Amino acid sequence: MLDNYKQQTLALELIKRKARIGTIHQETAISIKWLRKAYRQYHGFSARSGDNKQSIHALTRSNQQYKEAAAFAACYRQAQFIIDQRSIYQVINAFDAFKKMHPASKLDFSETSVIIEELLANTIELTRCPVCNCWNLLRARMNHIERCGVCKARLKK
Ligand SMILES: [Zn+2]
Repeated sequence: MLDNYKQQTLALELIKRKARIGTIHQETAISIKWLRKAYRQYHGFSARSGDNKQSIHALTRSNQQYKEAAAFAACYRQAQFIIDQRSIYQVINAFDAFKKMHPASKLDFSETSVIIEELLANTIELTRCPVCNCWNLLRARMNHIERCGVCKARLKK
């Protein structure tokens, strides 16, 4: 269990990145009421409630979204190597690295959990394009066209 100070610091880091209140509560054990209030104070608006859990396909509809999902997955894989801590810190690190590369991306913190779950379950797979070496995600798109998001070369299965 985290001590009080660490709990609150982590909660604020997650609030800053607009994580879901349910997720923050799960990670920190801080009361939902306190978290909602802190969220409102920080952002000036209330946290969205409920979990609108999406499928990976919803996050890869356009080629741009697909490329961003692959970029986030690559950042997460990297974070797993460099951070020897609880997984939530890996997510924060990966999200920040991703946002540096794609500052205009609409992928939000709570949506990254879909990508992470699928990666860990191996239902999607991070792979490099054999031609241009860019990161891609196998099985992440609805239409199953396994082509590179950048150069369109066929990806190896
Ligand atoms: Zn390529």
